[in-house]
Amino acid sequence: MNSPLSYTTLPETLWAPANVHKFPALEWVIGSFDGTELPPREWIRLIADTENSSSIAQAYGGHQFGHWNILGDGRALLFQEIHAKNGDLFDIGLKGSGRTPLSRGGDGRAQLGYMLKEFLISEWFHAMRIPTTRSLGVLTTGETVQRERPEPGAVLIRKARSHIRVGTFQFAAAKGGASLVKELLQFTGVRHLRNKDVSALDLLRKTVESQAKLIAVWMSIGFIHGVMNTDNMTISGETIDFGPCAFQDEFHFDQVYSQIDQNGRYAYENQPHIALWNLYRLAEALLPLIDGDQDHARQKAKEALDQFNTIYDSEWLRLFQSKLGISPAHSDTDDCTLAKDFLSEMESNSADFTNSFLALEDLVLGQGPGPKVSTAWTTRWLARTSKKPDTLTRLQSSNPRIIPRTHFIKQAIDAVLAGDRKMLTDFHAAITHPMVELTQDGAGFKNPPLPHEKVPYTTCGT
Ligand code: AMP
Ligand code: MG
Repeated sequence: MNSPLSYTTLPETLWAPANVHKFPALEWVIGSFDGTELPPREWIRLIADTENSSSIAQAYGGHQFGHWNILGDGRALLFQEIHAKNGDLFDIGLKGSGRTPLSRGGDGRAQLGYMLKEFLISEWFHAMRIPTTRSLGVLTTGETVQRERPEPGAVLIRKARSHIRVGTFQFAAAKGGASLVKELLQFTGVRHLRNKDVSALDLLRKTVESQAKLIAVWMSIGFIHGVMNTDNMTISGETIDFGPCAFQDEFHFDQVYSQIDQNGRYAYENQPHIALWNLYRLAEALLPLIDGDQDHARQKAKEALDQFNTIYDSEWLRLFQSKLGISPAHSDTDDCTLAKDFLSEMESNSADFTNSFLALEDLVLGQGPGPKVSTAWTTRWLARTSKKPDTLTRLQSSNPRIIPRTHFIKQAIDAVLAGDRKMLTDFHAAITHPMVELTQDGAGFKNPPLPHEKVPYTTCGT
């Protein structure tokens, strides 16, 4: 049995004991290359020990597509807490580990394909040093799980700075009012800021900052999360829950990949607006603790929330300057227009997001066709970057050569389901070095992208 989790020092309104289901046959499929983690046979031994009475399901709520619901770990649980070398505490969670007291109507199971997708994309995020929960490994359970099609059941091992979400604060406010929010605030303060006495306003400010920076990074890599519900937004600022997410191939501002996002609520260009909408929900939960006078509280919260756009805009500009090979030493409105015009021209010319940035290298090297944009734009870009010796280095260090494109993920999953794991392991190896010149393994995963697919492998796993 593991030692009790620190989360259980919080009132039981916020969690429930939950053990891993006894699966017929756990088998390791793939794991991250992090040598500091446990070897596969140790993970299998720990997960098969279904009497591990310290694991819990965390309770939370969430605005799902704008509608409030009481949720909680229905197919996940908090399995362990581990200390990093610097003393930070991390959660080890499991996903697909079976029913919990908070499962509602669900079966608590997950399909192998979706867990491999989460594994691959979060490995790429980790390799790119983008804040993310990390997958340590994927196992099959020996069961078959039926969704749109039958697939092997799977368990994903997930490492996170914490699983505290905007929806956890909303849940605390809804179920326990200001006193429960206060306890959660203190716990979060210790966990993330090493400060038990963190003020509600400070936590809001910190979350606004980390989320504004995170969403700017998503935009700079053409990433569409797909389900930015408040339960899928962390307080730590890590990306979480890679469900119906995808990277833009052919670029469109209003691109949506998820079949369940009928109204485009979580379209590419809406992501910063939705992030701020979610942060307003966090502010509402914190409001009674921000100031005894609710008018003053609202005013202070508004000032904190107003910082989102400022932080997002400057981070967006810095990232896109780098992607265009421009030194982000100073903020420049011309650069902002240059970057936005690049995206607009990409859209009108049906150009690929990632490859358009890579094609700027052609213009520096004087070989190759360059990006699919107008001569006028190219002339402006050359005028801005010419005679700058570091342009090529900057381009190469800011633009990934390999991204986990939907069709590669799908091919790798289909091969695994047909009994062949080679593409999965090759793709994983390529993903872990997204910036470097192509290795033999990575060579197959760069160009060209498949034609844009309207209905990719991105329905929700529930
Ligand atoms: P997600 O789409 O993974 O963010 O999940 C949204 C909510 O549905 C969470 O409360 C999940 O725990 C729950 N959920 C998703 N899939 C299942 C499942 N197979 N069984 C039980 N609960 C589930
Ligand atoms: Mg979720």
